[in-house]
Amino acid sequence: MFNMHATTQLLHSIPVDPQTGAIAVPIYQTSTFVQDAPGINRGFDYSRSNNPTRQELEKIVAKLEGGTTGAAFASGLAAIDAVIKLLESGDEIIAVDDIYGGAFRLFEKVYKKFGITVNYVDTTDLGAINRAITSKTKLIWLESPTNPTLKISDIRAVAEIAHRYGILLCVDNTFASPILQQPLKLGADIVVHSATKYIGGHSDVIAGLVVTREEAIGTQIKFYQNACGAVLGPFDSFLLIRGLETLPLRIAQHSRNAATIAQYLESHPLVDKVFYPGLTSHPQHGLARQQQKDFGGVISFSLRTDTEAAAISLVTNTTLFHLAESLGGVKSLVSHPASMTHKSIDAATRKAAGVKDSLIRLSVGLEDPTDLINDLETALAIVQATQSENGIAQQLHHC
Ligand SMILES: *Cc1c(COP(=O)(O)O)cnc(C)c1O
Repeated sequence: MFNMHATTQLLHSIPVDPQTGAIAVPIYQTSTFVQDAPGINRGFDYSRSNNPTRQELEKIVAKLEGGTTGAAFASGLAAIDAVIKLLESGDEIIAVDDIYGGAFRLFEKVYKKFGITVNYVDTTDLGAINRAITSKTKLIWLESPTNPTLKISDIRAVAEIAHRYGILLCVDNTFASPILQQPLKLGADIVVHSATKYIGGHSDVIAGLVVTREEAIGTQIKFYQNACGAVLGPFDSFLLIRGLETLPLRIAQHSRNAATIAQYLESHPLVDKVFYPGLTSHPQHGLARQQQKDFGGVISFSLRTDTEAAAISLVTNTTLFHLAESLGGVKSLVSHPASMTHKSIDAATRKAAGVKDSLIRLSVGLEDPTDLINDLETALAIVQATQSENGIAQQLHHC
């Protein structure tokens, strides 16, 4: 599934240091670079503008995504922010309705006041995208799979629509990672990552990446990276390079573990609905199969008893799945989007996007899947016991 060729290429796109032969990319922990004469330097003058460790990361990622230019930022949101800066006051964005909460907050609480407005649509429906386009639309913003309901949008088809109207397409590729999906090869103009997730992979760094297909757009992104200054530091750049070395292996195992757990959840009597693109019950399973190499490590599911209380009982009774925001690390995490990541989205918008009160999101880690299933089994049994106790209490109350 993950052909040797791509993995070998990735590993060997990480260079051996020409000066010393160091097999790991050196960390150039320096703010400035001594110049031979004013304006005459060895390619670097100040680490906000460019740093050798960050530059290596940017090259590796650009190659991995099949783009021309990479830019590394201090967080995923800083990467998204740099892309929105390509726009001007009065421009419109069409964005996937099931959007990452932080991107929604950035659009609504920051960019709206500068005159950039966002129209949220169900991007799985190409007709809905077509209907939302106006003469002011300059950017289409996709996540695929989305967070947290794992909706899949047809990147190739959306790119065709966008380009018919001279609109840019940007894909937040955080959930799939470049191992499962390369949006630029499907026609997207820009890819962003919260590298905090799968690319870092060890829950020890906050970072973001932008990769562009065209050099001209890349040059603009690099301009904003330097002009606004939310750059990734040398040590964090090193951590991402190290993460990239095992990314194909980790993604393969995350996907295998998640597939096993999704099937287990789908057959559990307390579980209402399982959202995982690898399940044949997923509405865009066929598209996911075409567009992605595998289905990744994130699963969401809702409970038959659709209450926040039931969900909170579950997420506080797992022991291997730690309760935390974020995803993509080696250790499994569980979260309750309605009260955590999606808290800043109002209830009506949240529910319209399919984020029910009982929705639970799993980031399936690299533990043995049997242990992870046992952990869920125990927590679900506690939820069931609590519910039947409440049921009995209610019956007594009615007597
Ligand atoms: C986490 C996340 C972000 C934001 O990234 P940070 O590194 O936390 O700033 C953006 N998009 C998606 C899909 C994410 O999961």
